[in-house]
Amino acid sequence: MNDCIFCKIASGEMEAKLVKKEGNCLAIEDINPQAPVHLLIIPAEHIQDMSEAVGKGVLEEVFAMAVLLAEEKGLAERGYRLVINCGEEGGQTVPHLHLHLLGGRPLTWPPG
Ligand code: AMP
Ligand code: ZN
Repeated sequence: MNDCIFCKIASGEMEAKLVKKEGNCLAIEDINPQAPVHLLIIPAEHIQDMSEAVGKGVLEEVFAMAVLLAEEKGLAERGYRLVINCGEEGGQTVPHLHLHLLGGRPLTWPPG
């Protein structure tokens, strides 16, 4: 997808604060952080959303990287949140699947 910002970041065509790149996914710092730790874990391949992602092994990789990063960022003990916004009403603004890792402060519920 040549107009997709996360494809461009994955290929190195667009700059981002890269935190980790391993296997078929990468993690970057969110440009508009909502918590002291706010990372996005992104499959390198263009996968639009959860409907496209299920059944592909990449979901396991994305979640495994999130758990590893939560440990590395010191969040495993205190807790954190993983979020995938799906579609318009779910709040998805970038149509390339990504998992938000949020932590470093108490997070409220329900979401807005
Ligand atoms: P969502 O609303 O779930 O689709 O999340 C998209 C996220 O991508 C938002 O939290 C944005 O702040 C973030 N974002 C958009 N553009 C960039 C970028 N170039 N680099 C890093 N994060 C971005
Ligand atoms: Zn893409």
